[in-house]
Amino acid sequence: MRYPDDADRYATILKDPRSFVVSPNLADYEAARSAFSWEQARAALSGLPGGDGLNIAYEAVDRHARGPRANRVALRWIGKAGERRDYTYGELAISTNRFANALQSVGVKAGDSVFILLGRVPELYVGMLGALKLKCVVSPLFSAFGPEPIATRMEIGDARVLVTTEALYRRKVEALRERLPKLECVILIDAEEDSERTRSWRKLMQAAQEIFNIAPTDPRETALLHFTSGTTGRPKGVIHVHEAVVTHYATGRYALDLHDGDRFWCTADPGWVTGTSYGVIAPLTHGVTNIVVEAEFDAPSWYGVLAQERVTVWYTAPTAIRMMMKLGADAVKDYDLSALRFAASVGEPLNAEAVVWGVEAFGLPFHDNWWQTETGGIMIANFASMDIKPGSMGRPLPGVEAEILRRKANGGIETLGAGEEGELALKSGWPSMMRGYLHEEARYRKCFVGEWYLTGDLARYDSDGYFWFVGRADDVIKSSGHLIGPFEVESALMEHPAVAEAAVIGKPDPIAGEIVKAFVALKLGFEADELMRKDLLGHARKRLGAAVAPKEIEFRGNLPKTRSGKIMRRLLKARELGLPEGDLSTLESDER
Ligand code: ATP
Ligand code: MG
Repeated sequence: MRYPDDADRYATILKDPRSFVVSPNLADYEAARSAFSWEQARAALSGLPGGDGLNIAYEAVDRHARGPRANRVALRWIGKAGERRDYTYGELAISTNRFANALQSVGVKAGDSVFILLGRVPELYVGMLGALKLKCVVSPLFSAFGPEPIATRMEIGDARVLVTTEALYRRKVEALRERLPKLECVILIDAEEDSERTRSWRKLMQAAQEIFNIAPTDPRETALLHFTSGTTGRPKGVIHVHEAVVTHYATGRYALDLHDGDRFWCTADPGWVTGTSYGVIAPLTHGVTNIVVEAEFDAPSWYGVLAQERVTVWYTAPTAIRMMMKLGADAVKDYDLSALRFAASVGEPLNAEAVVWGVEAFGLPFHDNWWQTETGGIMIANFASMDIKPGSMGRPLPGVEAEILRRKANGGIETLGAGEEGELALKSGWPSMMRGYLHEEARYRKCFVGEWYLTGDLARYDSDGYFWFVGRADDVIKSSGHLIGPFEVESALMEHPAVAEAAVIGKPDPIAGEIVKAFVALKLGFEADELMRKDLLGHARKRLGAAVAPKEIEFRGNLPKTRSGKIMRRLLKARELGLPEGDLSTLESDER
């Protein structure tokens, strides 16, 4: 089997010169790993005054507000109409105190669930951090979800409070409110007055005190409830605790290389875990300026944000990168991106082609990193100081032990060596490890064998210790005795100059068991015709060999994706086979 790292095309290992504008936090990988302990990582945080435990909101806001960073911009909000508002750490401390008091004034207590259904507006951040101060369990939802997914999640999560807008409430929640008997308090951020069933944010905040003392917080108390992306099936409600902030901080330091004075932009919505762990918590715990952009993806406006805000560290996702690639590197040339020092990507496999394109377009490669809702924070990464092998997810973080395992028929596991493909597993014990799937104890237990957490992703590592993503266990294709990882095939297709996106599935076949079928979206200016199909089939055969290359190609304008930007292969497959489509609550673009 050929792997991307064998390919001549990517034989060059990329060094990232701009990462060295500042000296990387992780200068020597081996040394950092051996010196690391989670206890020490925790010691870099403040803890609540008087040794009263660890609270995410205190680490993110109050400890800076009480020190020399009080007047530094914590959040720079850029609204849809281009308006810009700054909130210093001092101001954020006051508004989050107010919101904690406001919640308390309406009878909300520690342990109650607070759901937030908002676009990326300042109240989302104030609401989340304020509720964490009161030790509520916070669950941020994508504002674009429809009524049913919203109601289902609030039902599962025993929502007691909902923070939203008048319009979202009327359109998406009101009609289903009878299903939510525990939902006592709906706070509307744009309502001037209270109504029979809703409260006005403005009035509550006006009446609330500016001072709030966070109660002692056991690091093991639940803080966040995040739903997974639903890429492989029905989304799971993942429980995280306050202690997760230790991982957020440590990974912000090592994997995102955050330095004092950085202007950081994470493009993810807090409706999925990246937008919370890295769009809120990690940058604030580092006391840097966190850029929040309300508008959805649009390449020129994104380049504008990078240039105008002098963004130094940028965390984005493969789907966005592929959309930018569609428009070409020339589109970047008019923008002054000289402040940008480090760019990273997460969420899906990052094709080698995209890493290399980063150098062409931005003068620096995208650093891929890997993690899941369940892991709460980055587990495997390409670090600033490290050589990048395009197509590899990088190496495990200090404090993270990763192995490739095979489940055995007797319920045990076998550890595989370099070059062997198996399930990616992590040794339990890092602080942001999930503490459960809500109401799904059996499903949660099934993820563990002894001390190992099995991720459901297939991967391998090479002789240098770099990890390579093969595919999700569910997506692996078995064809004529070969096990084919979709990522390998998709990456080869992506190398073709006409291809913008590709997704492959296994299609049942009486002889081969399964054949590889590819769905391909082309870049602008290319024709989806017979000639193109033949050209792609030929290209794939040359790159992958006949056994692995797709036998069928179907052109699509777009591929179905989750709201967090992941290609839903299971949906392509279900439709191909005429099977039930399953849970579609997270589906975003849907062009058949
Ligand atoms: P569900 O579990 O509901 O099917 P999901 O797994 O897509 O949804 P998330 O937790 O949001 O939900 O995504 C984590 C998954 O995304 C990983 O398990 C992996 O399959 C994929 N992923 C994330 N980052 C990378 C990466 N750098 N390379 C390859 N795959 C990645
Ligand atoms: Mg998953």
